[in-house]
Amino acid sequence: MVFTRIDGNGISGYGEASLPPYLGETHDSVLKFLSKAQKLLERFSNPEDLGALTEAVDAIDTGNTAAKASVDIALNDLYGKMLNRPCHEIYRADPAKPLYTAYTLPIDDEEGIRKRVAEAQEYKLLKVKLGSASDKKTIEKIRQLTDKDFFVDVNEGWADKHFALDTILWLADHKCLFAEQPLPKDRPDDIAWLTERSPIPILADEAVQRISDLEKIQGIYSGINVKLMKCTGMHEANQMMIRAKKYGMKILLGCMSESSCAVSAAAQLAPFADWIDLDGPLLIKEDFFDGVKFSEGKIILNDWPGIGAVPHPSLPSPVGEGKR
Ligand code: MG
Repeated sequence: MVFTRIDGNGISGYGEASLPPYLGETHDSVLKFLSKAQKLLERFSNPEDLGALTEAVDAIDTGNTAAKASVDIALNDLYGKMLNRPCHEIYRADPAKPLYTAYTLPIDDEEGIRKRVAEAQEYKLLKVKLGSASDKKTIEKIRQLTDKDFFVDVNEGWADKHFALDTILWLADHKCLFAEQPLPKDRPDDIAWLTERSPIPILADEAVQRISDLEKIQGIYSGINVKLMKCTGMHEANQMMIRAKKYGMKILLGCMSESSCAVSAAAQLAPFADWIDLDGPLLIKEDFFDGVKFSEGKIILNDWPGIGAVPHPSLPSPVGEGKR
């Protein structure tokens, strides 16, 4: 993880880049990008036009979506604090909407599943990772233990479209809500075939990163998994959700392994999603931020200005300093 701080008018905005290996970004690549972003931001005198600012940051280089997200989150935080308003209010997201996050059950043996289901007691929605030879056994085991709502994330793990359809029909009978990325993303024809026949929504995760990908997957998937680290942050995530809705697509708002900094930022937009998968801070060892809280599986948005997260004193001191 790399944390970003942007100062302006005596106020600090905070952001975070989380770096899952599949996005290809590293600690070094993020720092390199941030020093370019710093030079660019020094030329702007106020952060009011967040859209123009994030577009300028995006134009610095291709890729680098997590580094871009960290700048976007820090700018949103700074802007919210300058206005003394929480970001969910600025984006006109209704904080009164009940927001239940999913709790992830990784691929595991029977004993592991039993343990995880017990840990997930207060969560109303389960996300079950599939893509192994024992997928049906996993679901049968979970169904013996609980009748909670669940969805599955296959992470491109099934190879054959007929196998995928059989399994999805079986899952639908077991009241599965939807399936995320059942087949490899480079097989759009097979996925379109599956989506057409599936009684439950088929969501793209690996197959969709940015708003520009939406057009390509229209008619192939019935929904998308939006993550700040894939789509360069809150500004584009918001735009993406608006456009996906226009296309009639379902929206899952997800996260990587993230602290309460990035997850609080994502949570500001959670009222726009159909389902929420923001259990990042529950799965990391050390959280350097105080932010949104979870109570009985529900995300509790606070009314703090900005992204709704503040750093702990334990946040490591900066490696590079710059003002804007
Ligand atoms: Mg996924």
